[in-house]
Amino acid sequence: MMDIEQVITAANEAGVRLIRFLYCDNGCVIRGKLAHIDSLARRLETGIGLTVAMQAMNMLDQLQPVEGMGPVGEIRLMADPDSFVVLPYAPHSAAMMADMLTLDRRPWGACPRSFLKRMIAQSADHGFSIQAAMENEFSLLRADGEISYAPIDTGLCFSSVSMTAAAAVIDDIIAALESQEIAIDAYYPELGHGQHELPIRHAPALRAADKQIWFRETVRNVAHQHGLLASLAPKPMPEQAGNGCHIHWSVWDTDGNINLLYEPDDPYRLSQMGYHFIAGVLDHLPGLLALTAPSYNSYRRLQPHFWSSAYTAWGPDNREAAVRVASGMWGYEAETVNLELKASDPSHNPYLALGGLIAAGLDGVARELTPGEPELIDPGNYSDEERAARGIERYPTSQAEALDSLEKDEVLMAALGPELSCSYLAVKRSEFQAFEGEDLAFEIKHHLHKF
Ligand code: GLU
Ligand code: MG
Repeated sequence: MMDIEQVITAANEAGVRLIRFLYCDNGCVIRGKLAHIDSLARRLETGIGLTVAMQAMNMLDQLQPVEGMGPVGEIRLMADPDSFVVLPYAPHSAAMMADMLTLDRRPWGACPRSFLKRMIAQSADHGFSIQAAMENEFSLLRADGEISYAPIDTGLCFSSVSMTAAAAVIDDIIAALESQEIAIDAYYPELGHGQHELPIRHAPALRAADKQIWFRETVRNVAHQHGLLASLAPKPMPEQAGNGCHIHWSVWDTDGNINLLYEPDDPYRLSQMGYHFIAGVLDHLPGLLALTAPSYNSYRRLQPHFWSSAYTAWGPDNREAAVRVASGMWGYEAETVNLELKASDPSHNPYLALGGLIAAGLDGVARELTPGEPELIDPGNYSDEERAARGIERYPTSQAEALDSLEKDEVLMAALGPELSCSYLAVKRSEFQAFEGEDLAFEIKHHLHKF
């Protein structure tokens, strides 16, 4: 925990000149404004002013008509001292994640980070604290001509050839993450050409979402220093494996001492509450997807047989199920049993994705929903009739369909609240319209460089 005084001291000791006050917007783009070190103390008290219109801006910088989000009106970006990091990849720079506050100092209804904080508070009302880890895959690319990019390796899945190709940049990425106190759990080259994966360790939900922002920033910036483009777009190369950002989560008591998902006598070591939580996530999955796999490009990734999931199914260590019950580690089962949402990618806003996941799960717990039978095979291998008999559904296959499902989902809409849900739907629907009218090259170019 850091307070304002400690932030000022740390920034001065590190010789910082500019401090980024960042937020992740409805287009899921990371944006912000910067304070100079000389005005940092004041800015940490007053925030930095931002036009309300920014939450009506899509990922193409096209401003959408959203009531109350035009040229008139202002909010304040209030940086959270706890999120302070000195940036290892930018000269004399530091960054903090900011909440959006109204001029009367309340969390703004359209603030994604405040939404996640509300969902964390609702979890606490149930006696829960949520731990989460985002497991990102990303593509390392090199310019190939003026506008096109080629993967830095064509190595095989987990192959040592790919490790060699990426060793220098991966080492620098890990060092940069470590300097921001983001601990790495493992590393592997993935199936796709130039595709690599760096799972980071779990943390309390708000910190996990903040870490996801630092991760996105770090991977892209360090790759840039190596003359490479790192992209976390869901499907940068349509013929290759997509980039997931699987969300692992576990539900603990409020003190964070007991993993409430764990039940030693269950065949999958999962508690009854855990089953309710899964059932809630599956029940809301069609609308939840609009938050966890939110971009136009996301739906190129979510296809059967690509290990990304495509159906509303769950299963123990089933990597084609939308929700996988991850088996615990030998000797550490009670702490490590966790759930994984595969239907999630790094083009999401982590505050909205994690907040939506919590809202869906808590609804399952409140209604004591049950998730049905576990799937022990790839659900894509059943016939349509078998899937129907097992209650497995193909979930939305486009951004537009997911957004329609979100709008119909009363639980998720109520959790988001009117300002956030209206602005989010408007922004994301405008992106669907924009990309529908253009070709694949336009789609890839914009997703490649924004995420
Ligand atoms: N690349 C796969 C995805 O799109 C995930 C592969 C795996 O790690 O299981 O989610
Ligand atoms: Mg993977």
